[in-house]
Amino acid sequence: MKLPNYVAGKWVEGAGTGEPLIDPVTGDELARISSQGIDLGEGLDFARSEGGPALRQLTYGQRAELLSKAADLLSAKRDEYFRISLLNLGATQADASFDVDGALYTMKYYAKIGRTFAEGKMLKEGAVVPLSKTGVFAGQHFLTPTKGAAVFINAFNFPAWGFCEKAAPALLSGVPVVVKPASPTAWLAHKMVEDVAKAGIFPAGALSVVCGSARELLDYIREEDIICFTGSADTAARVRSHDNVLRRSARVNIEADSINSAILGPDCTSGMDLFDLLVKEVVKEMTLKAGQKCTTIRRVFVPRPQLQAFGEAVAARLSSMKVGNPRNPEVKVGPVVNKAQQAACLEGLKQLSQECSVVYGGHSANFQPVDADAQKSAFVEPTLLYCKDGIAAKNVHDVEVFGPVVTLVPYDNVEDVIAMTRRGRGSLVASVFSNDSVFLREVVPGIGDLHGRILVVDSAVGSQHTGHGNVVPSCLHGGPGRAGGGEELAGLRALLLYHRRFVVQGPASCIQELSNSCMDTSLLYS
Ligand code: NAP
Repeated sequence: MKLPNYVAGKWVEGAGTGEPLIDPVTGDELARISSQGIDLGEGLDFARSEGGPALRQLTYGQRAELLSKAADLLSAKRDEYFRISLLNLGATQADASFDVDGALYTMKYYAKIGRTFAEGKMLKEGAVVPLSKTGVFAGQHFLTPTKGAAVFINAFNFPAWGFCEKAAPALLSGVPVVVKPASPTAWLAHKMVEDVAKAGIFPAGALSVVCGSARELLDYIREEDIICFTGSADTAARVRSHDNVLRRSARVNIEADSINSAILGPDCTSGMDLFDLLVKEVVKEMTLKAGQKCTTIRRVFVPRPQLQAFGEAVAARLSSMKVGNPRNPEVKVGPVVNKAQQAACLEGLKQLSQECSVVYGGHSANFQPVDADAQKSAFVEPTLLYCKDGIAAKNVHDVEVFGPVVTLVPYDNVEDVIAMTRRGRGSLVASVFSNDSVFLREVVPGIGDLHGRILVVDSAVGSQHTGHGNVVPSCLHGGPGRAGGGEELAGLRALLLYHRRFVVQGPASCIQELSNSCMDTSLLYS
């Protein structure tokens, strides 16, 4: 089976033999993909000239209705998406739920909050700016949906959520979507686009999917297009510095890799609620999706006297979690996505091992996944490392092992923990578990400028927090520096990415007329 591409309103199979999609547990081939021979320029033109105008004939409220229909349709097919997640990602039920249910929730969320925009087609920002003595000449800032296409180049780890969390705000804004899922796991995103497209919910050209290599896609980008990239920092740099993208100053939003942290406060000792909560959170982060989340904790900073107890507590929990074929109901940890990722993880583990010792795991020759052939499958043994000297270490703050690997790093004072956390050079998220308000008052602002999100948990919050790795659509997702500098979600603020700001300086009467059909941007922040 070769998955056809959906471009320019047509389903077209790519040329050649294509690339195989592989089951990471059995090594079996599941399907093939190819973008060879597909006219990507025509696909983008069609999205701009057919999909965009048809979407923008509708109001925000009407587009929210379409999103709602799409979310209902996708929800009805949830079982099929879980099946594909199992086959193509080796996902456990919990892994599949994190991606698929997260995707459905995000779609529904945007459908719901999009209705608050009701009838408008453009947004007005702020008050009228008087520019003349009599008030006859004035200024007004507006935001209008871009007339280009939104091009999504996505990562392999969240084929469903990665598509939906980007598509929902773009479509709500009236901007057509061209999604290029990562090749190894393209099937799920392809299936979701296929289901929505075949149901005819959105106008022709509103939704396209290209499976396989991006080829020369970026050569066709124009000034009014938006590129949303999620993936590694290396590919991000290539996308950002692409000649045509640079020359046209196309808007680029990057979500890249990230060395995220969790910090146990100096007030927390073994046996305390916060100590146990962070132990649980670390284990969840390591094992859910086998650590293949962009937000996953990579470093845990622990007060030096607590380090041994913390390591033992994490190791004890890990030892009860079976790693292997998710078809076995006892299995809690699945594989990484393919042999290449397994090799990349093991190489990263080697680099971290230069500065660390193994507390648990280590992927030794003895490691044997349950109900799977170690040669054919792509498992990585959950591994807890210990880095004695985090100040001197380099790799621990730099190497992202995109799998179930976490490093414990002791700290002696607040200055050191702030300095070490900052050495991630820009991250998506850091968590701080502490009841010490003085410590929190120093740490949060001390690292805030280099993080997109900081999760603070004290005893009053306890287990009610949303989770270190969990991205909620009402709050910002993204991070500065190495994390890419992009911003996604944050409720209706996500629409800003797909709108362009301009100011009209002109007759007050003309401004009044334009403003009449506009919703106010203050709604974005409500
Ligand atoms: P990747 O290798 O960088 O690939 C990402 C996407 O870029 C894929 O769709 C890939 O297509 C495409 N691509 C590769 N070369 C390209 C080029 N020259 N021009 C245009 N597109 C190109 O990343 P990945 O391995 O899929 O994802 C894992 C990484 O993503 C991790 O580092 C993780 O931290 C990061 N991530 C970040 C976030 C976030 O929100 N910040 C979320 C998820 C993942 P092919 O697959 O066809 O090569």
